[in-house]
Amino acid sequence: MVREYDIIIAGAGAAGLSLAYHLSQSSLCELDVLLLDADPKNTNDRTWCFWSEGAPPFPEAVFHTWEKLYFQDETGRYGGQLGPLKYHMIRGLDFYRHVRSALASRSNFEFRQERIESIDEKSGRAIVKTQIGAYSGRHVFNSCPLPGALPALGRYQLLQHFAGWWIELGKPVFSSAEGTLMDFRTAQPGDCRFFYVLPVSPSRALVEFTVFSPSRLAAEAYQSALKDYIEGQLGFSQYEVLEKEEGAIPMTDAAFKNRLSPRVHQIGTVGGAVKPTTGYAFSRIQEQARQVVAQLEAGQAPDTRLPSQARFAFYDQLLLDILEVEGFRGKGVFHRLFRHNRIGKVLKFLSERSNPVAEARIFATLPVPLFLKALLRNLQLRAGSYAAAYPSTAAAAPATLTPKQ
Ligand SMILES: Cc1cc2nc3c(=O)[nH]c(=O)nc-3n(C[C@H](O)[C@H](O)[C@H](O)COP(=O)(O)OP(=O)(O)OC[C@H]3O[C@@H](n4cnc5c(N)ncnc54)[C@H](O)[C@@H]3O)c2cc1C
Repeated sequence: MVREYDIIIAGAGAAGLSLAYHLSQSSLCELDVLLLDADPKNTNDRTWCFWSEGAPPFPEAVFHTWEKLYFQDETGRYGGQLGPLKYHMIRGLDFYRHVRSALASRSNFEFRQERIESIDEKSGRAIVKTQIGAYSGRHVFNSCPLPGALPALGRYQLLQHFAGWWIELGKPVFSSAEGTLMDFRTAQPGDCRFFYVLPVSPSRALVEFTVFSPSRLAAEAYQSALKDYIEGQLGFSQYEVLEKEEGAIPMTDAAFKNRLSPRVHQIGTVGGAVKPTTGYAFSRIQEQARQVVAQLEAGQAPDTRLPSQARFAFYDQLLLDILEVEGFRGKGVFHRLFRHNRIGKVLKFLSERSNPVAEARIFATLPVPLFLKALLRNLQLRAGSYAAAYPSTAAAAPATLTPKQ
Protein backbone atom coordinates (compact mmCIF):
# COMPACT_ATOMS: atom_id res chain seq x y z
CA MET A 1 0.00 0.00 0.00
CA VAL A 2 1.26 3.48 -0.87
CA ARG A 3 1.25 5.72 2.21
CA GLU A 4 -0.04 9.24 1.67
CA TYR A 5 1.38 12.52 2.98
CA ASP A 6 0.76 16.18 2.35
CA ILE A 7 4.43 16.88 1.74
CA ILE A 8 7.37 14.59 1.12
CA ILE A 9 10.84 16.03 1.62
CA ALA A 10 13.33 13.94 -0.35
CA GLY A 11 16.74 14.43 1.27
CA ALA A 12 17.05 15.63 4.86
CA GLY A 13 20.25 17.67 4.58
CA ALA A 14 20.51 21.46 4.72
CA ALA A 15 17.64 22.21 2.35
CA GLY A 16 15.28 19.41 3.39
CA LEU A 17 15.64 20.05 7.12
CA SER A 18 15.40 23.82 6.63
CA LEU A 19 12.14 23.42 4.75
CA ALA A 20 10.78 21.04 7.40
CA TYR A 21 11.76 23.46 10.14
CA HIS A 22 10.18 26.49 8.46
CA LEU A 23 6.99 24.46 7.84
CA SER A 24 6.88 23.49 11.50
CA GLN A 25 7.04 27.18 12.45
CA SER A 26 4.22 28.18 10.11
CA SER A 27 0.45 27.90 9.94
CA LEU A 28 1.08 24.65 8.02
CA CYS A 29 2.62 22.93 11.05
CA GLU A 30 -0.21 20.36 11.15
CA LEU A 31 0.49 18.98 7.66
CA ASP A 32 1.64 15.38 7.39
CA VAL A 33 5.28 15.59 6.33
CA LEU A 34 7.60 12.70 5.47
CA LEU A 35 11.37 13.26 5.41
CA LEU A 36 13.42 10.65 3.57
CA ASP A 37 17.20 10.36 3.64
CA ALA A 38 19.53 7.47 2.91
CA ASP A 39 21.98 8.70 5.53
CA PRO A 40 21.38 8.79 9.30
CA LYS A 41 22.95 12.30 9.37
CA ASN A 42 24.78 11.54 12.60
CA THR A 43 28.24 12.79 11.63
CA ASN A 44 29.66 16.26 11.26
CA ASP A 45 29.93 15.94 7.48
CA ARG A 46 30.28 19.69 6.79
CA THR A 47 30.48 23.14 8.30
CA TRP A 48 28.39 26.01 7.00
CA CYS A 49 29.57 29.59 7.13
CA PHE A 50 27.46 32.51 6.02
CA TRP A 51 26.93 36.16 6.81
CA SER A 52 23.77 37.86 7.96
CA GLU A 53 22.55 41.23 9.04
CA GLY A 54 20.68 40.89 12.33
CA ALA A 55 19.95 37.55 13.96
CA PRO A 56 21.21 34.50 12.03
CA PRO A 57 18.91 31.62 11.18
CA PHE A 58 19.02 28.83 13.80
CA PRO A 59 20.81 30.99 16.42
CA GLU A 60 20.84 28.07 18.90
CA ALA A 61 22.92 26.03 16.45
CA VAL A 62 25.48 28.75 15.70
CA PHE A 63 28.91 27.51 16.77
CA HIS A 64 30.87 30.73 16.34
CA THR A 65 30.46 34.29 15.06
CA TRP A 66 33.09 36.70 13.71
CA GLU A 67 32.81 40.47 13.54
CA LYS A 68 35.99 40.96 11.52
CA LEU A 69 37.15 39.21 8.39
CA TYR A 70 40.33 39.66 6.37
CA PHE A 71 41.76 39.02 2.95
CA GLN A 72 45.49 38.27 2.91
CA ASP A 73 48.15 38.03 0.21
CA GLU A 74 51.84 38.87 -0.14
CA THR A 75 51.05 42.61 -0.31
CA GLY A 76 49.21 42.78 3.02
CA ARG A 77 46.05 42.11 4.98
CA TYR A 78 42.84 43.94 4.08
CA GLY A 79 39.42 43.99 5.66
CA GLY A 80 38.24 44.39 9.23
CA GLN A 81 34.85 45.13 10.76
CA LEU A 82 31.95 43.78 8.75
CA GLY A 83 29.75 46.73 9.64
CA PRO A 84 26.17 45.60 10.26
CA LEU A 85 27.00 42.08 9.05
CA LYS A 86 28.32 39.18 11.06
CA TYR A 87 29.91 35.97 9.82
CA HIS A 88 28.54 32.79 11.40
CA MET A 89 29.47 29.14 11.48
CA ILE A 90 27.05 26.24 11.99
CA ARG A 91 28.45 22.73 12.24
CA GLY A 92 26.49 20.19 10.22
CA LEU A 93 25.93 17.80 13.10
CA ASP A 94 24.68 20.57 15.40
CA PHE A 95 22.23 21.64 12.71
CA TYR A 96 20.92 18.11 12.04
CA ARG A 97 20.44 17.50 15.77
CA HIS A 98 18.89 20.91 16.37
CA VAL A 99 16.25 20.56 13.65
CA ARG A 100 15.51 16.93 14.43
CA SER A 101 14.98 17.70 18.11
CA ALA A 102 12.78 20.70 17.23
CA LEU A 103 10.62 18.37 15.11
CA ALA A 104 10.68 15.43 17.53
CA SER A 105 7.64 16.61 19.46
CA ARG A 106 5.55 16.80 16.27
CA SER A 107 4.24 13.35 15.38
CA ASN A 108 3.10 14.61 11.96
CA PHE A 109 6.77 15.04 10.89
CA GLU A 110 8.05 11.54 10.17
CA PHE A 111 11.65 10.57 9.34
CA ARG A 112 12.57 7.46 7.38
CA GLN A 113 16.08 6.35 6.55
CA GLU A 114 15.60 4.97 3.03
CA ARG A 115 17.40 5.35 -0.29
CA ILE A 116 15.23 7.05 -2.89
CA GLU A 117 15.20 5.37 -6.27
CA SER A 118 12.78 7.54 -8.23
CA ILE A 119 10.33 10.41 -8.00
CA ASP A 120 7.43 10.64 -10.46
CA GLU A 121 4.03 12.19 -10.76
CA LYS A 122 0.89 10.15 -11.49
CA SER A 123 -2.79 11.07 -11.38
CA GLY A 124 -2.21 14.34 -9.56
CA ARG A 125 0.05 12.84 -6.85
CA ALA A 126 3.83 12.82 -6.54
CA ILE A 127 5.19 9.30 -5.96
CA VAL A 128 8.53 8.60 -4.29
CA LYS A 129 9.91 5.07 -4.57
CA THR A 130 12.62 3.89 -2.22
CA GLN A 131 14.39 0.57 -1.89
CA ILE A 132 11.76 -0.31 0.72
CA GLY A 133 8.46 1.14 -0.40
CA ALA A 134 6.49 3.86 -2.15
CA TYR A 135 5.03 7.09 -0.76
CA SER A 136 2.64 9.56 -2.26
CA GLY A 137 2.48 13.28 -1.57
CA ARG A 138 0.58 16.35 -2.70
CA HIS A 139 4.01 17.91 -3.21
CA VAL A 140 7.55 16.55 -3.14
CA PHE A 141 10.54 18.80 -2.43
CA ASN A 142 13.68 17.09 -3.63
CA SER A 143 17.31 17.86 -2.75
CA CYS A 144 18.80 14.49 -3.78
CA PRO A 145 21.07 14.42 -6.85
CA LEU A 146 18.96 11.76 -8.61
CA PRO A 147 19.78 11.29 -12.32
CA GLY A 148 16.78 13.21 -13.73
CA ALA A 149 17.18 15.97 -11.15
CA LEU A 150 20.46 17.33 -12.49
CA PRO A 151 20.76 20.13 -15.05
CA ALA A 152 22.24 19.97 -18.54
CA LEU A 153 25.87 21.12 -18.60
CA GLY A 154 26.39 24.84 -18.32
CA ARG A 155 28.79 26.99 -20.32
CA TYR A 156 31.04 27.14 -17.26
CA GLN A 157 31.63 24.06 -15.17
CA LEU A 158 34.08 24.78 -12.43
CA LEU A 159 34.22 23.21 -9.02
CA GLN A 160 35.06 24.77 -5.72
CA HIS A 161 36.84 21.84 -4.11
CA PHE A 162 38.40 21.88 -0.70
CA ALA A 163 39.64 20.08 2.36
CA GLY A 164 39.83 21.40 5.89
CA TRP A 165 41.41 20.49 9.21
CA TRP A 166 40.19 21.46 12.62
CA ILE A 167 43.43 22.12 14.49
CA GLU A 168 44.14 22.56 18.20
CA LEU A 169 47.37 24.30 19.19
CA GLY A 170 47.19 23.86 22.95
CA LYS A 171 48.13 27.52 23.52
CA PRO A 172 46.47 30.86 22.70
CA VAL A 173 47.55 32.22 19.31
CA PHE A 174 44.37 33.34 17.55
CA SER A 175 41.98 36.19 18.03
CA SER A 176 38.69 34.33 17.88
CA ALA A 177 36.80 37.47 16.78
CA GLU A 178 38.83 37.65 13.54
CA GLY A 179 38.72 35.25 10.63
CA THR A 180 40.76 35.06 7.43
CA LEU A 181 38.33 34.59 4.57
CA MET A 182 40.99 34.19 1.89
CA ASP A 183 44.75 33.84 2.21
CA PHE A 184 46.38 33.78 -1.22
CA ARG A 185 49.95 33.32 0.00
CA THR A 186 50.30 30.18 -2.05
CA ALA A 187 51.31 29.31 -5.64
CA GLN A 188 48.60 29.60 -8.33
CA PRO A 189 49.57 26.83 -10.76
CA GLY A 190 47.11 27.79 -13.50
CA ASP A 191 44.06 27.81 -11.25
CA CYS A 192 42.82 29.84 -8.31
CA ARG A 193 43.69 28.54 -4.83
CA PHE A 194 43.71 29.93 -1.33
CA PHE A 195 43.34 29.05 2.34
CA TYR A 196 41.03 30.27 5.02
CA VAL A 197 41.49 30.29 8.77
CA LEU A 198 38.50 30.51 11.07
CA PRO A 199 39.50 30.48 14.75
CA VAL A 200 36.74 29.43 17.15
CA SER A 201 38.87 29.92 20.27
CA PRO A 202 42.35 31.32 20.97
CA SER A 203 43.84 27.87 20.36
CA ARG A 204 41.48 26.19 17.87
CA ALA A 205 40.66 26.90 14.22
CA LEU A 206 39.26 25.45 11.04
CA VAL A 207 41.90 25.78 8.33
CA GLU A 208 40.70 25.05 4.84
CA PHE A 209 42.44 24.77 1.46
CA THR A 210 40.20 25.67 -1.50
CA VAL A 211 40.73 25.44 -5.25
CA PHE A 212 38.54 26.81 -8.07
CA SER A 213 39.20 24.58 -11.08
CA PRO A 214 37.43 22.11 -13.37
CA SER A 215 38.38 18.97 -11.45
CA ARG A 216 39.42 17.77 -8.03
CA LEU A 217 43.02 17.14 -7.00
CA ALA A 218 44.39 13.84 -5.72
CA ALA A 219 43.41 13.40 -2.05
CA GLU A 220 47.03 13.74 -0.82
CA ALA A 221 47.44 17.12 -2.55
CA TYR A 222 44.94 18.78 -0.21
CA GLN A 223 46.53 17.21 2.86
CA SER A 224 50.06 18.24 1.93
CA ALA A 225 48.90 21.76 1.03
CA LEU A 226 47.26 22.10 4.46
CA LYS A 227 50.35 20.78 6.23
CA ASP A 228 52.67 23.12 4.31
CA TYR A 229 50.45 26.12 4.98
CA ILE A 230 49.95 25.46 8.69
CA GLU A 231 53.60 24.72 9.32
CA GLY A 232 55.28 26.93 6.72
CA GLN A 233 53.01 29.95 6.39
CA LEU A 234 51.33 30.06 9.81
CA GLY A 235 54.47 28.76 11.53
CA PHE A 236 52.78 26.20 13.81
CA SER A 237 54.90 23.12 14.38
CA GLN A 238 52.96 21.66 17.33
CA TYR A 239 49.28 21.04 16.67
CA GLU A 240 46.73 18.29 16.75
CA VAL A 241 44.33 17.62 13.87
CA LEU A 242 40.98 17.04 15.57
CA GLU A 243 38.71 16.53 12.58
CA LYS A 244 38.92 16.65 8.80
CA GLU A 245 36.36 17.65 6.20
CA GLU A 246 36.33 17.81 2.45
CA GLY A 247 33.93 18.49 -0.36
CA ALA A 248 33.18 20.04 -3.72
CA ILE A 249 30.55 22.56 -4.72
CA PRO A 250 29.51 23.29 -8.33
CA MET A 251 30.45 26.69 -9.75
CA THR A 252 28.41 26.78 -12.92
CA ASP A 253 25.88 28.76 -14.88
CA ALA A 254 23.93 25.55 -15.61
CA ALA A 255 20.16 26.02 -15.56
CA PHE A 256 19.17 24.06 -12.46
CA LYS A 257 15.71 22.53 -12.57
CA ASN A 258 13.42 24.09 -10.03
CA ARG A 259 10.56 21.76 -10.88
CA LEU A 260 10.58 18.24 -12.34
CA SER A 261 6.79 18.20 -12.76
CA PRO A 262 3.93 20.30 -11.33
CA ARG A 263 4.12 18.55 -7.94
CA VAL A 264 7.83 17.71 -7.81
CA HIS A 265 9.95 20.71 -6.84
CA GLN A 266 13.67 20.99 -6.26
CA ILE A 267 15.45 22.73 -3.41
CA GLY A 268 19.03 23.18 -2.23
CA THR A 269 21.96 22.50 -4.53
CA VAL A 270 19.91 20.63 -7.15
CA GLY A 271 17.34 23.43 -6.96
CA GLY A 272 19.93 26.07 -7.90
CA ALA A 273 20.50 27.49 -4.40
CA VAL A 274 24.30 27.69 -4.73
CA LYS A 275 25.67 31.12 -5.69
CA PRO A 276 27.85 30.10 -8.67
CA THR A 277 30.85 32.33 -7.96
CA THR A 278 31.12 31.85 -4.22
CA GLY A 279 29.73 28.39 -3.49
CA TYR A 280 27.72 29.84 -0.61
CA ALA A 281 24.25 28.32 -0.35
CA PHE A 282 23.17 28.17 3.29
CA SER A 283 21.52 31.62 3.41
CA ARG A 284 19.92 31.10 0.01
CA ILE A 285 18.55 27.74 1.19
CA GLN A 286 16.84 29.55 4.09
CA GLU A 287 15.44 32.12 1.69
CA GLN A 288 14.15 29.35 -0.57
CA ALA A 289 12.50 27.54 2.36
CA ARG A 290 10.81 30.70 3.64
CA GLN A 291 9.60 31.52 0.13
CA VAL A 292 8.08 28.06 -0.39
CA VAL A 293 6.32 28.12 2.97
CA ALA A 294 4.89 31.59 2.26
CA GLN A 295 3.62 30.40 -1.13
CA LEU A 296 2.00 27.29 0.35
CA GLU A 297 0.43 29.37 3.12
CA ALA A 298 -1.02 31.69 0.49
CA GLY A 299 -2.45 28.71 -1.41
CA GLN A 300 -0.09 29.32 -4.35
CA ALA A 301 1.85 26.74 -6.34
CA PRO A 302 5.37 26.53 -4.91
CA ASP A 303 8.13 28.08 -6.98
CA THR A 304 11.63 27.51 -5.62
CA ARG A 305 13.37 29.96 -7.99
CA LEU A 306 15.07 32.66 -5.97
CA PRO A 307 14.27 36.20 -7.10
CA SER A 308 17.79 36.90 -8.37
CA GLN A 309 18.26 39.94 -10.60
CA ALA A 310 19.51 39.12 -14.10
CA ARG A 311 22.50 41.42 -13.67
CA PHE A 312 23.94 39.20 -10.92
CA ALA A 313 23.76 36.14 -13.17
CA PHE A 314 25.68 38.18 -15.75
CA TYR A 315 28.37 39.24 -13.23
CA ASP A 316 28.66 35.60 -12.18
CA GLN A 317 29.22 34.56 -15.79
CA LEU A 318 32.04 37.07 -16.24
CA LEU A 319 33.85 35.93 -13.12
CA LEU A 320 33.27 32.26 -13.94
CA ASP A 321 34.73 32.93 -17.38
CA ILE A 322 37.87 34.51 -15.91
CA LEU A 323 38.25 31.70 -13.39
CA GLU A 324 37.79 29.02 -16.00
CA VAL A 325 39.93 30.50 -18.77
CA GLU A 326 42.59 32.33 -16.74
CA GLY A 327 42.11 30.87 -13.28
CA PHE A 328 45.46 32.10 -11.95
CA ARG A 329 44.26 35.69 -12.52
CA GLY A 330 41.50 35.16 -9.96
CA LYS A 331 43.99 36.11 -7.25
CA GLY A 332 44.41 39.59 -8.78
CA VAL A 333 40.65 40.05 -9.03
CA PHE A 334 40.11 39.12 -5.38
CA HIS A 335 43.08 41.27 -4.32
CA ARG A 336 41.57 44.37 -5.89
CA LEU A 337 38.08 43.51 -4.72
CA PHE A 338 39.12 43.31 -1.06
CA ARG A 339 41.89 45.91 -1.11
CA HIS A 340 39.80 48.70 -2.62
CA ASN A 341 36.36 48.01 -1.15
CA ARG A 342 35.09 47.76 2.40
CA ILE A 343 34.63 44.10 3.25
CA GLY A 344 31.03 44.56 4.38
CA LYS A 345 30.23 46.06 0.97
CA VAL A 346 31.95 43.19 -0.81
CA LEU A 347 29.88 40.66 1.14
CA LYS A 348 26.67 42.53 0.34
CA PHE A 349 27.64 42.49 -3.33
CA LEU A 350 28.43 38.76 -3.20
CA SER A 351 25.06 38.03 -1.62
CA GLU A 352 23.28 40.13 -4.27
CA ARG A 353 22.13 42.74 -1.76
CA SER A 354 23.98 45.66 -3.35
CA ASN A 355 22.56 48.30 -5.68
CA PRO A 356 23.75 49.20 -9.21
CA VAL A 357 25.65 52.31 -8.01
CA ALA A 358 27.58 50.28 -5.40
CA GLU A 359 28.24 47.62 -8.04
CA ALA A 360 29.59 50.18 -10.53
CA ARG A 361 31.96 51.45 -7.83
CA ILE A 362 33.14 47.91 -7.14
CA PHE A 363 33.67 47.12 -10.83
CA ALA A 364 35.69 50.32 -11.22
CA THR A 365 38.23 48.88 -8.78
CA LEU A 366 38.60 45.57 -10.65
CA PRO A 367 41.01 44.82 -13.54
CA VAL A 368 38.94 46.26 -16.39
CA PRO A 369 40.81 44.64 -19.37
CA LEU A 370 40.31 41.21 -17.84
CA PHE A 371 36.57 41.77 -17.51
CA LEU A 372 36.34 43.24 -21.03
CA LYS A 373 38.00 40.13 -22.44
CA ALA A 374 35.57 37.97 -20.47
CA LEU A 375 32.69 40.09 -21.74
CA LEU A 376 33.82 39.63 -25.33
CA ARG A 377 34.09 35.85 -24.91
CA ASN A 378 30.70 35.82 -23.25
CA LEU A 379 29.12 37.70 -26.16
CA GLN A 380 30.78 35.36 -28.66
CA LEU A 381 29.48 32.36 -26.75
CA ARG A 382 25.99 33.82 -26.67
CA ALA A 383 26.24 34.32 -30.42
CA GLY A 384 27.02 30.60 -30.66
CA SER A 385 30.66 31.01 -31.69
CA TYR A 386 32.57 28.74 -29.39
CA ALA A 387 35.68 28.80 -31.61
CA ALA A 388 35.81 32.60 -31.57
CA ALA A 389 35.41 32.72 -27.80
CA TYR A 390 38.09 30.13 -27.08
CA PRO A 391 40.42 30.05 -30.12
CA SER A 392 43.27 28.30 -28.32
CA THR A 393 41.08 25.48 -27.04
CA ALA A 394 38.63 25.14 -29.92
CA ALA A 395 40.55 22.41 -31.70
CA ALA A 396 39.87 20.03 -28.83
CA ALA A 397 37.16 21.72 -26.83
CA PRO A 398 37.62 20.40 -23.29
CA ALA A 399 34.56 18.98 -21.58
CA THR A 400 34.75 21.75 -19.02
CA LEU A 401 34.12 24.36 -21.69
CA THR A 402 31.37 22.54 -23.51
CA PRO A 403 28.78 25.10 -24.49
CA LYS A 404 25.15 24.52 -23.64
CA GLN A 405 23.33 22.38 -26.17
C1 LIG B 1 31.74 20.10 2.69
C2 LIG B 1 30.83 21.25 2.28
C3 LIG B 1 30.94 22.47 2.93
C4 LIG B 1 30.09 23.53 2.57
N1 LIG B 1 30.23 24.73 3.22
C5 LIG B 1 29.38 25.73 2.93
C6 LIG B 1 29.46 26.94 3.65
O1 LIG B 1 30.35 27.15 4.47
N2 LIG B 1 28.54 27.91 3.39
C7 LIG B 1 27.55 27.74 2.47
O2 LIG B 1 26.72 28.63 2.31
N3 LIG B 1 27.49 26.60 1.74
C8 LIG B 1 28.37 25.60 1.94
N4 LIG B 1 28.28 24.43 1.23
C9 LIG B 1 27.32 24.36 0.11
C10 LIG B 1 25.89 23.98 0.55
O3 LIG B 1 25.43 24.86 1.56
C11 LIG B 1 25.82 22.57 1.09
O4 LIG B 1 26.22 21.66 0.10
C12 LIG B 1 24.43 22.18 1.55
O5 LIG B 1 24.55 21.06 2.37
C13 LIG B 1 23.48 21.92 0.39
O6 LIG B 1 22.25 21.51 0.90
P1 LIG B 1 21.37 20.41 0.18
O7 LIG B 1 20.25 20.12 1.08
O8 LIG B 1 21.13 20.81 -1.21
O9 LIG B 1 22.32 19.13 0.08
P2 LIG B 1 22.73 18.17 1.28
O10 LIG B 1 22.90 18.93 2.53
O11 LIG B 1 23.88 17.38 0.76
O12 LIG B 1 21.45 17.23 1.47
C14 LIG B 1 21.06 16.29 0.50
C15 LIG B 1 20.61 15.05 1.26
O13 LIG B 1 20.12 14.10 0.33
C16 LIG B 1 20.49 12.81 0.78
N5 LIG B 1 20.45 11.93 -0.38
C17 LIG B 1 21.19 12.02 -1.51
N6 LIG B 1 20.81 11.06 -2.38
C18 LIG B 1 19.81 10.36 -1.78
C19 LIG B 1 18.99 9.26 -2.17
N7 LIG B 1 19.11 8.67 -3.35
N8 LIG B 1 18.06 8.82 -1.30
C20 LIG B 1 17.90 9.41 -0.09
N9 LIG B 1 18.65 10.44 0.34
C21 LIG B 1 19.58 10.91 -0.50
C22 LIG B 1 21.88 13.00 1.37
O14 LIG B 1 22.17 11.98 2.31
C23 LIG B 1 21.74 14.37 2.02
O15 LIG B 1 21.41 14.28 3.38
C24 LIG B 1 29.13 23.36 1.54
C25 LIG B 1 29.07 22.14 0.87
C26 LIG B 1 29.91 21.11 1.22
C27 LIG B 1 29.82 19.81 0.44
